[in-house]
Amino acid sequence: MFLEVKNLSKKYQDKYAIKDINFSLDEGKLMCFLGPSGCGKSTILKVIGGFIESSGEIYLDGKLINNLPPEEREISTVFQSFGLFPHMNVLENIVYGLKFREKNKAIIKEKGLKMLDKMGLSGYQNRYINELSGGEKQRVALGRSLIIEPKLLLLDEPLSSLDAKLQEEMRGEIKRFQHEFNITTIFVTHNQKEAFEISDEIMLLNNGEIMQIGTARELYEKPNNRFVLEFIGKSNIIDNSYIRPEDIAITNEGEDAKIIDIIYQGELSILKLKYQGKTIETFVINNESNYSIGDNIKIIIRKRQVI
Ligand code: ADP
Ligand code: MG
Repeated sequence: MFLEVKNLSKKYQDKYAIKDINFSLDEGKLMCFLGPSGCGKSTILKVIGGFIESSGEIYLDGKLINNLPPEEREISTVFQSFGLFPHMNVLENIVYGLKFREKNKAIIKEKGLKMLDKMGLSGYQNRYINELSGGEKQRVALGRSLIIEPKLLLLDEPLSSLDAKLQEEMRGEIKRFQHEFNITTIFVTHNQKEAFEISDEIMLLNNGEIMQIGTARELYEKPNNRFVLEFIGKSNIIDNSYIRPEDIAITNEGEDAKIIDIIYQGELSILKLKYQGKTIETFVINNESNYSIGDNIKIIIRKRQVI
């Protein structure tokens, strides 16, 4: 495996921030660290980047990197705040990391302009950071990270300061850059939708521990435990089984249920149903349905077992 992480643990005072973290990642893949605030996502990222110490081992491309300082790890990190230099223009920001590796100014400039072009920032080289939009800053930060050709790219909630529309656009762009540069990437997010959209694999964390590692589909369809089940997607939990919204079919015959609320969402509507004294949720596609609150309906349910 290109990246292998073994037995990472880190305590602050007496409490584990992360505990016994083990995972590996193939070259060119994107893994999301997903989980609620405070679950340890950033701590793992900082340990891998070399910004904080912990027990355990990290191998990158076959090399043990634990004892190396951040600048010798061949890893680039983009933090939430981007960390761009306001007193430097776009080109100077982008080529910043190259100066320590390349002395020839013409080569530096040529590489910088090429990266600007790849990031869709042609013509922006002389602008200062405060003259850029959020999405442009994001692209400068990515360009600056990628220009040094790291083996691993670490992104800590890189889109959280952008508005929803731009987040969606940048998710697509990050995925595109990631493929184009074939760069192995870890992307931290607390947003399930974002993780589902962008990841090859997801590591779901809670309280500093790994709850499950898998593809989006594996986490949704085969949750290992109750935490995964409740964090990923919507589910109706009844006794020891759970029902996803798509497991409920409204039919002519079946069990009795009553519509108690309808939440219109454009392409579809969420229906809240009273079923055997409990509230459960399903959805209907809007051009196929014409339901009202208070309607008595029949449903057929597929129940899944909690593992
Ligand atoms: P996340 O990025 O998932 O929101 P963090 O990795 O930042 O979570 O934090 C994990 C846990 O470690 C939290 O409980 C946090 O309070 C704690 N923690 C992080 N950094 C420190 C620190 N420097 N000192 C003490 N506790 C810390
Ligand atoms: Mg964090």
